[in-house]
Amino acid sequence: MKLPDESSRPLLLKGGCLLDPASGRHENHDLLLAEGRIKARAPDLHAPDARVLDVSGKWVAPGFIDMHVHLREPGGEDAETIATGTRAAAAGGFTAVAAMPNTSPVNDDQSVTRFILAQAARDGVVRVHPIGCVTKGMSGEELTEMGNQVDAGCMAFSDDGKPVASAQVMRRALEYSSVFGVPIIDHCEEPTLAAGAVMNEGIVSTALGLRGMPDEAEEVMVDRNIRLAGLTGGRVHIAHISTRGAIESVRRGKEAGVRVTAEVTPHHLLLTEEAVRDYDTDFRMNPPLRTEEDRAACVAGLVDGTIDAIATDHAPHAHEFKNVEFDAAPNGVIGLESAIPVLMDRLVATGLLTPVRMVEALTAAPARILNLEGQGSLMVESLADITVLDPDCLFTVEARRFRSLSRNTPFNGWRCRGSVIFTIVAGHLVHDGRGDFAG
Ligand SMILES: [Zn+2]
Ligand SMILES: [Zn+2]
Repeated sequence: MKLPDESSRPLLLKGGCLLDPASGRHENHDLLLAEGRIKARAPDLHAPDARVLDVSGKWVAPGFIDMHVHLREPGGEDAETIATGTRAAAAGGFTAVAAMPNTSPVNDDQSVTRFILAQAARDGVVRVHPIGCVTKGMSGEELTEMGNQVDAGCMAFSDDGKPVASAQVMRRALEYSSVFGVPIIDHCEEPTLAAGAVMNEGIVSTALGLRGMPDEAEEVMVDRNIRLAGLTGGRVHIAHISTRGAIESVRRGKEAGVRVTAEVTPHHLLLTEEAVRDYDTDFRMNPPLRTEEDRAACVAGLVDGTIDAIATDHAPHAHEFKNVEFDAAPNGVIGLESAIPVLMDRLVATGLLTPVRMVEALTAAPARILNLEGQGSLMVESLADITVLDPDCLFTVEARRFRSLSRNTPFNGWRCRGSVIFTIVAGHLVHDGRGDFAG
């Protein structure tokens, strides 16, 4: 990471309320950060050589980890780069992102992983954890050299954007990845059921005359994956879960002891298929926005822990590609710079989600799934990656102000109570949001 070098001095966070998912408690403790680690944690710390950041009245959390991001580099630099994507991440409160491999070329080889890590070291401002392809060329046939890719720095494998269509290939992938203790992250979609669909299948798709995708396209694959994880003992992670039935399957799989985890996006937590009625392509994504019943099930599954993590599925697209008819637009929306304010306003401020559970789903849960040592915790000797939230500020999501190169957000114009105020990576302030609030 290219970190600001104005301060190699220790940083003392004074007066904040710690939201620590490890203890599950709110505590008014100070934190001393030095040499890239949390060095001390106590009610009233003093460090004469430290730079002091007053965080009284603020919530201090482990640095947020977005385990599902499309950084687009290499090959898609019109939409995003590692430099701009990590700046968007920092502005949104994320200190680490996991980079999906459907770039150009795809990340099916350690040369691509090395390139991504070198670019992140040179141009990035937050940590970048590469995800490698499950299959060579993402063609769904031959497995990649996962051992080499783990050695190069991959934390997981996925053909995201596509499902692993073949059950036999998925079985082998789960067996092979379990040798290295890493998960297979699957975009769960049965290809023949999903073919040609541009939104959820139901009353709205019928009214709009658009081709819909049934819930079963997702659920058939979630069920298959859970069975194969049970068969192999491998770890499967369900990307962007979106239907009530899929969540129910994950719940049953966990009860049966299968090693299955799941993530949900802010848009599936907060929006429904009704948003598609204006044919606005900023509401076209895959899986599509579902029904109110599904949305409520996503919230309930997140609250009760069936769904482990929140991830944005940040999917930038250049304006000329999204500025077309709904049918012709690419899937995907961006999320790094809107996720935290919209979640704080609609789920936390309303009491549906506790602050600590939100933090856990953005920190300890993804750290556990991706084996990210030292992240997701406020324990002494953890990495000094910290996200500071202001629960009272008023923040408006404004796409034109995004650091991302792309603008395809479904949350533009949302007025939110609560947002990110500071993002700290390895003890360095990489985002100061104090100028961004309405008051
Ligand atoms: Zn996907
Ligand atoms: Zn994705």
